[in-house]
Amino acid sequence: MRINVIKSSMPPFEEYVEAIRPLWDSVWLTNMGVNHEKLSEKLCEYLKVKNVSLFVNGHMALEMTLQALDLDGEVITTPFTFASTTHAIVRNGLKPVFCDINPDTYTIDADKIEALITPKTCAIVPVHVYGCICDVEKIEAIAKKHCLKVIYDAAHAFGCEYKGKGIGAFGDASMFSFHATKVFHTIEGGAISTEDEHLMKELYKLKDFGIKNEEVVDGIGANAKMNEFCAVMGLCNLEYVDGEIEKRRLVVERYREHLSNIPGLKILPVQKDVKPNYAYFPIVIDENIFGCDRQTVMDRLKENDIYTRKYFYPLTSDMDCYRGRFDPSLTPVAQQAAERVLTLPMSATLATDDVDRICTIIKELAGETAK
Ligand SMILES: *Cc1c(COP(=O)(O)O)cnc(C)c1O
Repeated sequence: MRINVIKSSMPPFEEYVEAIRPLWDSVWLTNMGVNHEKLSEKLCEYLKVKNVSLFVNGHMALEMTLQALDLDGEVITTPFTFASTTHAIVRNGLKPVFCDINPDTYTIDADKIEALITPKTCAIVPVHVYGCICDVEKIEAIAKKHCLKVIYDAAHAFGCEYKGKGIGAFGDASMFSFHATKVFHTIEGGAISTEDEHLMKELYKLKDFGIKNEEVVDGIGANAKMNEFCAVMGLCNLEYVDGEIEKRRLVVERYREHLSNIPGLKILPVQKDVKPNYAYFPIVIDENIFGCDRQTVMDRLKENDIYTRKYFYPLTSDMDCYRGRFDPSLTPVAQQAAERVLTLPMSATLATDDVDRICTIIKELAGETAK
Protein backbone atom coordinates (compact mmCIF):
# COMPACT_ATOMS: atom_id res chain seq x y z
CA MET A 1 0.00 0.00 0.00
CA ARG A 2 1.14 3.48 -0.85
CA ILE A 3 2.78 5.43 1.95
CA ASN A 4 2.84 9.19 1.53
CA VAL A 5 5.37 11.48 3.16
CA ILE A 6 2.58 13.14 5.14
CA LYS A 7 -1.01 12.41 6.10
CA SER A 8 -3.25 15.07 7.63
CA SER A 9 -4.89 14.41 10.99
CA MET A 10 -8.69 14.49 10.84
CA PRO A 11 -11.12 14.87 13.75
CA PRO A 12 -14.13 12.51 13.89
CA PHE A 13 -16.49 13.54 11.07
CA GLU A 14 -19.56 13.87 13.32
CA GLU A 15 -17.74 16.19 15.70
CA TYR A 16 -16.84 18.58 12.92
CA VAL A 17 -20.37 18.48 11.50
CA GLU A 18 -21.92 19.18 14.91
CA ALA A 19 -19.50 22.03 15.48
CA ILE A 20 -20.30 23.78 12.20
CA ARG A 21 -24.10 23.30 12.55
CA PRO A 22 -24.62 26.59 14.48
CA LEU A 23 -23.15 28.47 11.53
CA TRP A 24 -26.38 27.76 9.62
CA ASP A 25 -28.25 29.75 12.28
CA SER A 26 -25.81 32.58 12.87
CA VAL A 27 -24.69 32.79 9.25
CA TRP A 28 -21.54 34.50 10.58
CA LEU A 29 -19.02 32.75 8.37
CA THR A 30 -15.89 34.87 8.62
CA ASN A 31 -14.60 38.23 9.93
CA MET A 32 -13.61 37.24 13.46
CA GLY A 33 -16.63 35.13 14.42
CA VAL A 34 -17.19 33.22 17.67
CA ASN A 35 -15.10 30.21 16.63
CA HIS A 36 -12.26 32.50 15.58
CA GLU A 37 -12.32 34.08 19.05
CA LYS A 38 -12.57 30.75 20.83
CA LEU A 39 -9.65 29.27 18.86
CA SER A 40 -7.47 32.31 19.61
CA GLU A 41 -8.11 31.90 23.33
CA LYS A 42 -7.51 28.16 23.33
CA LEU A 43 -4.30 28.53 21.34
CA CYS A 44 -2.94 31.11 23.79
CA GLU A 45 -3.40 28.54 26.49
CA TYR A 46 -2.02 25.60 24.51
CA LEU A 47 0.99 27.45 23.12
CA LYS A 48 1.66 29.21 26.45
CA VAL A 49 1.74 32.65 24.86
CA LYS A 50 0.11 35.97 25.70
CA ASN A 51 -1.64 36.75 22.40
CA VAL A 52 -2.47 34.91 19.22
CA SER A 53 -3.59 36.59 15.99
CA LEU A 54 -5.16 34.12 13.55
CA PHE A 55 -4.57 34.22 9.80
CA VAL A 56 -5.72 32.62 6.58
CA ASN A 57 -2.32 30.88 6.42
CA GLY A 58 1.13 31.01 7.94
CA HIS A 59 2.72 32.80 5.02
CA MET A 60 0.44 35.84 5.18
CA ALA A 61 0.89 35.93 8.95
CA LEU A 62 4.65 36.25 8.51
CA GLU A 63 4.44 38.68 5.62
CA MET A 64 2.04 40.97 7.47
CA THR A 65 4.09 40.87 10.65
CA LEU A 66 7.17 42.09 8.80
CA GLN A 67 4.97 44.83 7.30
CA ALA A 68 3.40 45.78 10.65
CA LEU A 69 6.80 46.13 12.31
CA ASP A 70 7.62 48.75 9.70
CA LEU A 71 11.04 47.31 8.94
CA ASP A 72 13.50 48.70 6.46
CA GLY A 73 16.83 47.35 5.19
CA GLU A 74 18.43 43.97 5.73
CA VAL A 75 17.06 40.90 7.45
CA ILE A 76 19.32 38.08 8.59
CA THR A 77 17.74 34.69 7.92
CA THR A 78 18.59 31.22 6.59
CA PRO A 79 18.16 29.69 3.12
CA PHE A 80 17.45 26.22 4.55
CA THR A 81 13.71 26.75 4.77
CA PHE A 82 10.48 26.72 2.82
CA ALA A 83 10.11 29.34 0.05
CA SER A 84 7.68 31.24 2.27
CA THR A 85 10.27 32.60 4.72
CA THR A 86 12.42 34.26 2.07
CA HIS A 87 9.43 35.37 -0.03
CA ALA A 88 7.87 37.10 3.01
CA ILE A 89 11.06 39.14 3.44
CA VAL A 90 11.50 40.00 -0.25
CA ARG A 91 7.80 40.81 -0.78
CA ASN A 92 8.17 43.44 1.95
CA GLY A 93 10.95 45.15 0.03
CA LEU A 94 13.52 43.91 2.52
CA LYS A 95 16.84 42.32 1.66
CA PRO A 96 17.51 38.82 2.97
CA VAL A 97 21.06 38.27 4.19
CA PHE A 98 21.66 34.55 4.45
CA CYS A 99 23.35 33.11 7.50
CA ASP A 100 24.59 29.51 7.51
CA ILE A 101 22.98 26.81 9.62
CA ASN A 102 24.14 24.67 12.49
CA PRO A 103 25.08 21.20 11.12
CA ASP A 104 23.30 19.41 13.96
CA THR A 105 19.99 21.24 14.26
CA TYR A 106 19.64 22.74 10.75
CA THR A 107 18.60 26.02 12.40
CA ILE A 108 20.46 29.31 12.09
CA ASP A 109 24.05 29.14 13.37
CA ALA A 110 23.80 31.81 16.06
CA ASP A 111 27.60 32.12 16.19
CA LYS A 112 27.62 33.36 12.60
CA ILE A 113 24.93 36.05 12.96
CA GLU A 114 27.00 38.93 14.33
CA ALA A 115 29.47 38.90 11.42
CA LEU A 116 26.54 39.63 9.08
CA ILE A 117 25.18 42.63 10.98
CA THR A 118 25.58 45.98 9.20
CA PRO A 119 24.12 49.44 9.93
CA LYS A 120 21.24 48.43 7.63
CA THR A 121 20.27 45.30 9.56
CA CYS A 122 16.81 45.67 11.09
CA ALA A 123 15.75 42.16 12.04
CA ILE A 124 16.53 38.46 12.33
CA VAL A 125 14.11 35.86 10.95
CA PRO A 126 15.28 32.47 12.23
CA VAL A 127 13.45 29.23 11.44
CA HIS A 128 12.73 26.37 13.85
CA VAL A 129 13.40 23.55 11.41
CA TYR A 130 11.60 20.16 11.63
CA GLY A 131 10.60 21.03 15.19
CA CYS A 132 14.27 21.48 16.14
CA ILE A 133 14.43 24.80 17.87
CA CYS A 134 16.90 27.63 17.36
CA ASP A 135 19.36 28.81 19.97
CA VAL A 136 16.75 31.24 21.30
CA GLU A 137 18.93 32.49 24.16
CA LYS A 138 21.91 33.44 22.02
CA ILE A 139 19.64 35.04 19.42
CA GLU A 140 17.91 37.09 22.09
CA ALA A 141 21.25 38.34 23.41
CA ILE A 142 22.43 39.37 19.93
CA ALA A 143 19.13 41.10 19.13
CA LYS A 144 19.23 43.02 22.39
CA LYS A 145 22.82 44.11 21.89
CA HIS A 146 22.18 45.38 18.36
CA CYS A 147 18.54 46.55 18.79
CA LEU A 148 17.16 44.12 16.22
CA LYS A 149 13.67 42.66 15.96
CA VAL A 150 13.38 38.87 16.01
CA ILE A 151 10.53 37.20 14.15
CA TYR A 152 10.59 33.41 14.27
CA ASP A 153 9.29 31.20 11.52
CA ALA A 154 7.81 28.60 13.89
CA ALA A 155 5.76 26.89 11.17
CA HIS A 156 7.30 23.54 12.19
CA ALA A 157 7.28 24.12 15.93
CA PHE A 158 3.66 23.91 17.07
CA GLY A 159 3.57 22.84 20.71
CA CYS A 160 7.35 22.89 21.18
CA GLU A 161 8.64 24.30 24.44
CA TYR A 162 12.04 25.40 25.68
CA LYS A 163 12.71 25.18 29.41
CA GLY A 164 8.96 24.92 29.98
CA LYS A 165 8.23 28.09 28.04
CA GLY A 166 6.09 28.07 24.89
CA ILE A 167 8.35 28.41 21.83
CA GLY A 168 6.10 31.23 20.59
CA ALA A 169 6.98 33.30 23.64
CA PHE A 170 10.50 33.98 22.31
CA GLY A 171 11.41 36.90 20.08
CA ASP A 172 9.15 39.82 19.14
CA ALA A 173 6.78 37.48 17.30
CA SER A 174 6.51 33.90 16.05
CA MET A 175 4.61 32.56 13.08
CA PHE A 176 2.85 29.21 13.25
CA SER A 177 1.43 27.46 10.19
CA PHE A 178 -1.80 25.47 10.44
CA HIS A 179 -1.57 24.07 6.93
CA ALA A 180 -3.09 20.62 6.40
CA THR A 181 0.38 19.05 6.35
CA LYS A 182 1.46 20.40 9.74
CA VAL A 183 1.27 18.79 13.20
CA PHE A 184 -1.83 20.87 14.02
CA HIS A 185 -4.00 22.21 11.22
CA THR A 186 -7.06 24.27 10.36
CA ILE A 187 -7.06 23.03 6.70
CA GLU A 188 -5.30 26.27 5.76
CA GLY A 189 -4.38 28.69 8.48
CA GLY A 190 -1.72 30.28 10.58
CA ALA A 191 -1.08 32.54 13.52
CA ILE A 192 1.24 35.06 15.08
CA SER A 193 2.07 34.91 18.76
CA THR A 194 3.42 38.07 20.34
CA GLU A 195 3.49 40.02 23.58
CA ASP A 196 3.48 43.29 21.63
CA GLU A 197 -0.04 44.77 22.00
CA HIS A 198 0.63 47.41 19.37
CA LEU A 199 1.63 44.71 16.88
CA MET A 200 -1.59 42.83 17.70
CA LYS A 201 -3.65 45.92 16.85
CA GLU A 202 -1.78 46.50 13.60
CA LEU A 203 -2.21 42.86 12.54
CA TYR A 204 -5.93 42.93 13.32
CA LYS A 205 -6.22 45.87 10.99
CA LEU A 206 -3.85 44.77 8.23
CA LYS A 207 -5.44 41.35 7.80
CA ASP A 208 -8.74 43.16 7.20
CA PHE A 209 -7.58 45.57 4.46
CA GLY A 210 -6.19 48.10 6.96
CA ILE A 211 -9.71 49.01 8.02
CA LYS A 212 -9.64 50.84 11.36
CA ASN A 213 -13.36 51.54 11.53
CA GLU A 214 -16.31 52.07 9.21
CA GLU A 215 -14.96 55.30 7.82
CA VAL A 216 -11.21 55.09 8.37
CA VAL A 217 -8.78 52.90 6.45
CA ASP A 218 -5.30 53.81 7.67
CA GLY A 219 -3.24 50.77 6.72
CA ILE A 220 -2.33 49.33 3.31
CA GLY A 221 -3.52 45.88 4.26
CA ALA A 222 -4.92 42.88 2.45
CA ASN A 223 -7.36 40.11 3.21
CA ALA A 224 -5.82 37.44 5.43
CA LYS A 225 -8.50 36.53 7.95
CA MET A 226 -9.27 33.00 9.11
CA ASN A 227 -12.84 31.91 8.35
CA GLU A 228 -15.18 30.09 10.73
CA PHE A 229 -15.01 26.70 9.01
CA CYS A 230 -11.25 26.65 9.42
CA ALA A 231 -11.49 27.88 13.02
CA VAL A 232 -13.90 25.03 13.81
CA MET A 233 -11.48 22.53 12.24
CA GLY A 234 -8.84 23.96 14.57
CA LEU A 235 -11.06 23.66 17.64
CA CYS A 236 -11.82 20.03 16.77
CA ASN A 237 -8.19 19.14 16.03
CA LEU A 238 -6.89 20.86 19.16
CA GLU A 239 -8.81 18.33 21.28
CA TYR A 240 -6.74 15.54 19.76
CA VAL A 241 -3.37 17.16 19.15
CA ASP A 242 -1.68 15.83 22.31
CA GLY A 243 -2.69 12.31 21.33
CA GLU A 244 -1.44 12.91 17.80
CA ILE A 245 1.93 14.14 19.06
CA GLU A 246 2.20 11.09 21.33
CA LYS A 247 1.58 8.80 18.33
CA ARG A 248 4.23 10.72 16.39
CA ARG A 249 6.64 10.18 19.26
CA LEU A 250 6.22 6.40 18.91
CA VAL A 251 6.86 6.60 15.17
CA VAL A 252 10.02 8.64 15.75
CA GLU A 253 11.25 6.25 18.43
CA ARG A 254 10.79 3.33 16.07
CA TYR A 255 12.69 5.16 13.34
CA ARG A 256 15.45 5.96 15.81
CA GLU A 257 15.75 2.35 16.94
CA HIS A 258 16.24 1.24 13.35
CA LEU A 259 18.36 4.06 11.97
CA SER A 260 20.55 5.26 14.85
CA ASN A 261 23.72 3.40 14.01
CA ILE A 262 24.02 3.36 10.25
CA PRO A 263 27.32 4.78 8.98
CA GLY A 264 26.72 7.71 6.67
CA LEU A 265 23.13 8.23 7.79
CA LYS A 266 22.50 11.09 10.20
CA ILE A 267 19.30 11.68 12.13
CA LEU A 268 18.09 14.62 14.20
CA PRO A 269 19.53 15.16 17.66
CA VAL A 270 17.43 15.06 20.81
CA GLN A 271 17.60 18.63 22.07
CA LYS A 272 18.23 19.38 25.74
CA ASP A 273 15.48 21.26 27.62
CA VAL A 274 13.18 21.02 24.59
CA LYS A 275 9.69 19.54 24.44
CA PRO A 276 9.58 18.33 20.84
CA ASN A 277 6.59 17.84 18.53
CA TYR A 278 8.03 15.15 16.20
CA ALA A 279 6.96 17.14 13.15
CA TYR A 280 9.28 15.55 10.59
CA PHE A 281 11.81 12.74 10.35
CA PRO A 282 14.65 13.76 8.07
CA ILE A 283 17.67 11.60 7.34
CA VAL A 284 20.88 13.02 5.94
CA ILE A 285 22.81 10.73 3.61
CA ASP A 286 26.56 11.10 3.25
CA GLU A 287 27.12 9.26 -0.01
CA ASN A 288 30.83 8.76 0.65
CA ILE A 289 30.14 6.66 3.74
CA PHE A 290 26.62 5.33 3.14
CA GLY A 291 27.64 4.09 -0.29
CA CYS A 292 24.87 5.59 -2.39
CA ASP A 293 23.33 9.02 -2.63
CA ARG A 294 20.05 10.52 -1.50
CA GLN A 295 18.45 10.10 -4.92
CA THR A 296 19.11 6.37 -4.87
CA VAL A 297 17.47 6.04 -1.46
CA MET A 298 14.51 8.09 -2.64
CA ASP A 299 14.12 6.02 -5.82
CA ARG A 300 14.40 2.67 -4.05
CA LEU A 301 11.69 3.69 -1.57
CA LYS A 302 9.52 4.93 -4.44
CA GLU A 303 9.83 1.56 -6.20
CA ASN A 304 8.19 0.22 -3.06
CA ASP A 305 5.39 2.81 -3.18
CA ILE A 306 6.93 4.83 -0.34
CA TYR A 307 7.11 8.55 -0.96
CA THR A 308 9.72 10.80 0.62
CA ARG A 309 10.58 14.44 0.05
CA LYS A 310 13.74 16.46 -0.45
CA TYR A 311 12.81 18.97 2.21
CA PHE A 312 14.42 21.48 2.01
CA TYR A 313 15.85 21.42 -1.47
CA PRO A 314 16.79 23.62 -3.20
CA LEU A 315 17.93 26.32 -0.78
CA THR A 316 15.71 29.39 -1.15
CA SER A 317 18.83 31.33 -2.16
CA ASP A 318 19.21 28.89 -5.05
CA MET A 319 15.61 29.05 -6.32
CA ASP A 320 15.03 30.09 -9.92
CA CYS A 321 13.15 33.23 -8.85
CA TYR A 322 16.27 34.46 -7.00
CA ARG A 323 18.86 33.30 -9.53
CA GLY A 324 21.86 35.58 -9.63
CA ARG A 325 20.85 37.55 -6.54
CA PHE A 326 22.47 35.41 -3.88
CA ASP A 327 25.47 33.13 -3.62
CA PRO A 328 24.45 29.77 -2.12
CA SER A 329 28.10 28.81 -1.65
CA LEU A 330 28.33 31.42 1.12
CA THR A 331 26.25 29.06 3.29
CA PRO A 332 28.13 25.79 2.72
CA VAL A 333 26.57 23.87 5.61
CA ALA A 334 23.09 24.67 4.34
CA GLN A 335 24.15 23.83 0.80
CA GLN A 336 25.38 20.42 1.83
CA ALA A 337 22.28 19.73 3.96
CA ALA A 338 20.03 20.58 1.01
CA GLU A 339 21.97 18.12 -1.19
CA ARG A 340 21.74 15.28 1.31
CA VAL A 341 18.49 15.54 3.25
CA LEU A 342 15.46 13.34 2.74
CA THR A 343 12.36 13.49 4.95
CA LEU A 344 10.82 10.09 5.54
CA PRO A 345 7.06 9.47 5.82
CA MET A 346 5.82 10.93 9.08
CA SER A 347 2.34 11.13 10.51
CA ALA A 348 0.42 10.10 13.61
CA THR A 349 -1.26 7.29 11.68
CA LEU A 350 1.90 5.72 10.27
CA ALA A 351 1.85 2.08 11.39
CA THR A 352 4.80 0.44 13.14
CA ASP A 353 4.86 -2.20 10.41
CA ASP A 354 5.25 0.51 7.80
CA VAL A 355 8.11 2.15 9.71
CA ASP A 356 9.75 -1.27 9.89
CA ARG A 357 9.29 -1.79 6.16
CA ILE A 358 10.74 1.63 5.30
CA CYS A 359 13.75 1.06 7.55
CA THR A 360 14.35 -2.45 6.22
CA ILE A 361 14.62 -1.06 2.69
CA ILE A 362 17.05 1.63 3.85
CA LYS A 363 19.12 -0.88 5.80
CA GLU A 364 19.23 -3.28 2.86
CA LEU A 365 20.49 -0.49 0.68
CA ALA A 366 23.14 0.38 3.26
CA GLY A 367 24.19 -3.29 3.34
CA GLU A 368 24.42 -3.51 -0.45
CA THR A 369 26.42 -0.41 -0.88
CA ALA A 370 28.51 0.00 2.30
CA LYS A 371 32.11 0.80 1.60
C1 LIG B 1 4.44 25.62 5.97
C2 LIG B 1 5.52 26.60 6.13
C3 LIG B 1 5.31 27.99 5.91
C4 LIG B 1 4.06 28.56 5.32
O1 LIG B 1 2.90 28.26 5.99
P1 LIG B 1 1.51 28.19 5.21
O2 LIG B 1 0.52 28.03 6.32
O3 LIG B 1 1.55 27.01 4.31
O4 LIG B 1 1.33 29.47 4.48
C5 LIG B 1 6.36 28.85 6.18
N1 LIG B 1 7.54 28.41 6.62
C6 LIG B 1 7.79 27.10 6.82
C7 LIG B 1 9.13 26.68 7.33
C8 LIG B 1 6.80 26.15 6.55
O5 LIG B 1 7.06 24.85 6.71
